[in-house]
Parts: sequence; C-alpha cells; structure tokens
Amino acid sequence: MKALAGLRGLHARFIGVVVATLLLMLAVVLLMLQRQGAMQREVLVQSRDAMHALVVERLRRHGEAQVAQLAGALANPLYFFDFDTIGTIARDALREPGVRYVLVFDGHGEILHDGSGEVPPFGQAMRDPLAYEAFAARDVHAQWSEHVLDVSSPIHVGDQRLGGVRVGYALDPIRNDEAVATRALDARLDEIGDRHLARVGLLLAALLALGAIASLLLQRALVRPIRQLADAAREIEAGNYGAAVPTSRRNDELGDLMRAFGRMGASIARHDRDIRRMAYTDALTGLANRLAFRESLDQRLMQLRGAGRQLALLLCDIDDFKRVNDTLGHDAGDEVLVQFANRIRAAVERYADGESLLARFGGDEFVILLQAGAAPGQEARALATELATTLVDVLSRPIQVQGRQVFLGTSIGLTLFPDDAAGGAMLLKNADIAMYQAKVAGKGCFRFYSRAMDQAVERRVRMEQDLRGAWERGELSLAYQPVFRLSDGQLVGAEALLRWRHPEQGVVAPSVFIDVAEQSGLIEVIGPQALRAACTEAMEWQARRVRGDGLFVSVNVSPRQLRSGDLPEQAAAVLRDTGLPPGLLHVELTETAVIGDELHAGALLSRLRSTGVKVWLDDFGTGFSGLSHLRRVPVDGVKIDRSFVADVLRDPDDLALTTAIIAMGHSLGITVIAEGVEQEGQYNILRERGCDLAQGYWLGHPLAPDDFAALLG
Ligand code: C2E
Ligand code: MG
Ligand code: MG
Repeated sequence: MKALAGLRGLHARFIGVVVATLLLMLAVVLLMLQRQGAMQREVLVQSRDAMHALVVERLRRHGEAQVAQLAGALANPLYFFDFDTIGTIARDALREPGVRYVLVFDGHGEILHDGSGEVPPFGQAMRDPLAYEAFAARDVHAQWSEHVLDVSSPIHVGDQRLGGVRVGYALDPIRNDEAVATRALDARLDEIGDRHLARVGLLLAALLALGAIASLLLQRALVRPIRQLADAAREIEAGNYGAAVPTSRRNDELGDLMRAFGRMGASIARHDRDIRRMAYTDALTGLANRLAFRESLDQRLMQLRGAGRQLALLLCDIDDFKRVNDTLGHDAGDEVLVQFANRIRAAVERYADGESLLARFGGDEFVILLQAGAAPGQEARALATELATTLVDVLSRPIQVQGRQVFLGTSIGLTLFPDDAAGGAMLLKNADIAMYQAKVAGKGCFRFYSRAMDQAVERRVRMEQDLRGAWERGELSLAYQPVFRLSDGQLVGAEALLRWRHPEQGVVAPSVFIDVAEQSGLIEVIGPQALRAACTEAMEWQARRVRGDGLFVSVNVSPRQLRSGDLPEQAAAVLRDTGLPPGLLHVELTETAVIGDELHAGALLSRLRSTGVKVWLDDFGTGFSGLSHLRRVPVDGVKIDRSFVADVLRDPDDLALTTAIIAMGHSLGITVIAEGVEQEGQYNILRERGCDLAQGYWLGHPLAPDDFAALLG
C-alpha cells in the first residue's frame, strides 16, 4: 500500500508541478495585461499631449505668420487712416476658419475695427484679460486663454508705432479634433490589447493542453509500468514467485528496468525451485526427505479427509545398521543406504499406483505412504501387507558392499489412516511404535499398529520406573549357568545371568529388561551390583570345592558400562573386597561394545587383562567384525553365538564357520566356548572340532545360587 501511495504521489506531484507552472504563467499574464493597460493609458496621455503641443504649435506659428502679414497689410491703411481698407482686411481675416475675433487698435489701445459691419466697440479701450500683453508687446506675441490663442502684433510705419492688430484663434475645434484622434488611438490600442489577450489566452490553453497531455503520457509511460513492477514485486515478496512479471519491448531505461526485473523474477523463481529441491530431497539417496514427506503427508490427509479412502504408512528401519557404520565405516554405510533405497523404491513402484510417497527420514529410516486404489474393496491393509512382506524379503537378501556380502534386515511398522489416526504426526508416532514392536519381536518382520502397542510403550516406561531400586528391594538376582570343559566334561565355571522377579508381573525376560536398563542408563547402576554379587558368590564356591581348579564366574558387561571407562577400577575394587583371584573373573562383552572405538576399548581391555581378569567376546559371529579384529582387540576367548550352534548339525555352512572360529581362536591362542548347546549331537561335534568349553540347556540350565552351589557338593 505504501508503494502504491508513493506511485500515486509521483503522478500527483507531477500534476502539482504542471498546475503550479500554469498558475505562475497565469499570474505573469495577468501582470502583463495590467502593465499593458497602464502602458496603454500612458501612451494615450503622452500621445494626446504630444498631439496637443504639435497642433497648438502649428496654430501659433500659423497665427504668428498670419498676424505678421496682417500687421504689414494694415500699416499703410492705418497710416492714412483708410478705414474701409482696414475694415476689408479685418473682415477677410475674420472669415478665416477658426478665427474668433480680429481687433485692429490704435496707438492708445483703442479699438478701430473688429471686422464687423458696424464696429460696435469702435473707440473703446480693450479690457479683456489678454489685452495688456497684446498692447504692450513690441513684436509678434502669442498668449493663451482657456478657449483662445491670442496673437498680436504692433503696426509700425518707420519708427512710428501706429497701433496693433490682435487675432483670436478658437481652441475648441482643436480640442475636438484631439478628442476624436485620442478616441481613435484608444480604440486602436484596445484592439491591439484584445488581440494580445486572445493570443495569451490561446497560449495558456495550449499550455494547459500540453500539461494534460504530458500528465497522460507520464501516467502511461512511467507511472503505470512502475506500478505494475511494484505489484509484481509485492507478489514476489509474498512468495508467489510464479506471478506474471510485466514485460516490455520499450527501448528505453524503463524497458531495460522491466526486462531486468523480469530476469530477476525468473532467477528468483529458479533459485527458489533449487532451494526447495535441495531442502526437500535427501542428498544421499535422492528420495524425498522428512520435510518434504511431512508436507506432502499433511496435504494428502487434508485432501482425503472424509473422502472414504484409506492410506497406509510404513516405517522401515534397517536392523543393526549401526554395526555397518561401526565395523565397515561410514562410506560402506552410505552404500548400504543407497542400495536399500533402490530396493525399496523398486518394491514400492511395483505396488503403488503412482500415488505413493517414499522418503528417507535420516539415519536408516525409510517411510512409505501407500494409497489404496479408488476401486471399491481395495484395502490399504491388504496392499500394505503385501508390500511389507516383499520389503522384508528383498531387504534380507545379502548386499554387496566394498567387495563383502553384508546380511541385513529390516523391521517395519505399519499404521492405517483413518483407522488408527487422523493426523500426520500421530500416524508417524504409531508407525514408530509398531516398528519398535517389530524389533522387539525379533527384527526382520513387520507389525501393524494396534492400540495395545500404546500400552506396550506405557509398560516400557513403567518398567523403567519399576527397575529403579529393584536390586535394593531384592527383586533382582543372579542365576548361574554351568560351563563345562569339553575335553573331560569337567565343570569349570558358570555364567552369571540376571533375573528379575517383578512383584506383580513375575519373572521378566532379561532380553526385555536389560534392554530397558541399557537404554535408560540404569545398567550403569545394576551392572556393578551384579558384578559384586557374582564375585561374592564365586568366592563361596571356591571354599566348597574340594577337588580340581578354581571355578570361574563370567559376568556380562554392557557396552554402556564399558564406555563409562572405569571398568578396570571397578573390577579391581570388587576383587580386592571379595578376595576372588582375578583369574577366576571373566568379563563377557559383545562385539558392538568393542568395535567402533577399538583404540579406546583396546586400551581399556588391556588394563583389565593386566590385573589378571579374562575378557571374552560374547555372541561371536553375529557382528561384522570378522576375525581380523581379534588381532587388534586383546581378548582371552570368544563365545560362539548360539544361533550357529543351533544349526551346527543341519547346516554345513554353520559347521564350517564354527570350525573356522575354533581353528582361528586356537591359532591366536585364545579359548573358544560354545553357548546354547541343547543336544548331545551338538556337544559331540563341538568336542570333535576341538572347542574348549560349552554351556547350554543340555548341559545345565541357569540355576539359582543355592541350586548351583548344591552342584558343587
Ligand atoms: P548371553 O550373554 O548370550 O547369555 C546367554 C543366554 O542364553 C541366556 O539367556 C541363557 O539363559 C541362554 N541360554 C543358555 N543355554 C541355552 C540353550 O541351550 N538354549 C537357548 N536357547 N538359550 C540358552 P538370558 O539369561 O535370557 O540372557 C539373555 C541376555 O541377557 C544375555 O545373553 C546377556 O546378553 C544379557 N544378560 C544377562 N545377564 C546380564 C547381566 O548381568 N549384565 C548384562 N549386561 N547383560 C546380561
Ligand atoms: Mg553372555
Ligand atoms: Mg551369548
């Protein structure tokens, strides 16, 4: 609005200038007209005066000449007193046009003749106001009264003065002529003035028209395009980059400006598109990113609200992706993500009819929005189930990364719109909960969201609360699973395994509560307590045991405990307090705890081992560390994961791997132990292959401390 006002102002200001100029000119013209009137009056007065002077002068000269001639003609008749001749001359003179009177007088100033027949004033002295000067004059003399020019001349014969003659010329006719001439002049001047006035008026009208035309031109040539530019600028300012930008073929500065503005608008629009593309795509996979997905999701939900169509939202999380990054490096991790993205994209394209959305949510999470077709009976749930089944299948196939085969899987959480939630944020939260449930269910599978899952999340939160102080309340205890030597079947030690008897829920599986303790950090409290209890118990076994070597106790240590950095000091303190020989304490670590930060872990484990404590790598074979890592991480033994042991009789590959682990362990001089031995056949084959130690249900279940102690009896 401000800009608009400014533009209006430009035009208004121009009109203001034009009007001011016109007013100024009008004032000048009025001044000129006034001056002209004054001048006209002055010219008139001057002209009349000049004319009057000229006419009077001519009359005087004419009178003087006539009177001189008359005086000459009267000299002789006066000398001889020829009254008739005097009368004739006087009469002739009186008949001259404009002559009022003729007076011939004698040497005493008495009238001799006045040109009339009877001469009534004969012999009378001249008494009029001009008489004295006329009589006294020694030569031709002119003098004025109001109506008359009186010219007199003395009449001489020789030196003798005989008298004089006076002629009165009427001034009135001259005055009348003058008035007539002045009127004509005045009329003429008026006419000239009027002509001037008309011209000036015409000029003013032309100027007015010129001002109007200039204003119109200004409006069309300057104000209108600028206003269009301002409108376009406002549109762009408001974010409407697609707004039409005025174009122009004008070949002037404004044309240049408009073209430059057009180019600038196009450039801004292009940049906006680029920035949007960048802001909305995941640089690694080229898929849409979280932002783009959230916007599209919200938009889609708005459109579908009340339309009776269903949507399914799938959240795929790569299982154990962190291990790839930790063990093979981030480049390999990126490669895995790209290959995963390609597989997901291919699967989605197969199931979705172009209305689907696929995005990477950062990290190892992919989100798919699937829309059921418009055809009746097409169910989002059925479609999503098919897609999820396919995804779980294709994503579990091995991936080639940096010349290695990597086995990964995915856990998928699914939720339905509008059944489960109506809003985007809620749907995503549901999918996340369902995905978590798929993980809990063992990974490599999918789960649909259900209201019960919310309760599961709630339960988890409650479990964390319940777990606090559980040790102190006596709810947590340790079970001991016996470990045997394969070569002679001797009991050599036991693995301490945490047990939780919840006051209401009963026994809670370690796989459930250890995870909660790990994620909440509670394990840093519970872990050391378990360590101390296990060492105290193990110390009692030594006293009971009469024959054979000392029995070791192996304690599981979580990655978090290791990362806290004071494990060697903790272990040393416990050993000192309980009196257990360090060699009888074994610490079990998972690969993931060690790998990824091998330098730090290596130094820590070295310190631990220097006190005599033995370090074992648990669940060996499930990670990607490969055998080469063992050279860099100082350990005393590896525990072959029970998944290999389980199939050792059926799957030749697992047997080969188990055999290789045993051989490699021995070549490095470390102990190899097998866990999860459930059958005699497994036990035998492991013994055959030279495995050192074994534990499992076939050999002995985890036992309460007293039951285990009874074994020693
Ligand atoms: P793990 O260290 O691999 O422990 C061995 C698990 O295998 C135990 O499960 C044990 O009961 C089970 N097992 C033993 N023999 C057999 C068998 O023949 N067949 C089968 N299928 N399973 C067998 P549990 O007690 O449920 O413990 C699960 C996991 O919890 C342990 O795996 C360990 O990682 C963790 N854990 C247990 N106690 C502690 C602890 O005190 N601290 C830490 N940080 N983790 C612990
Ligand atoms: Mg273990
Ligand atoms: Mg294990």
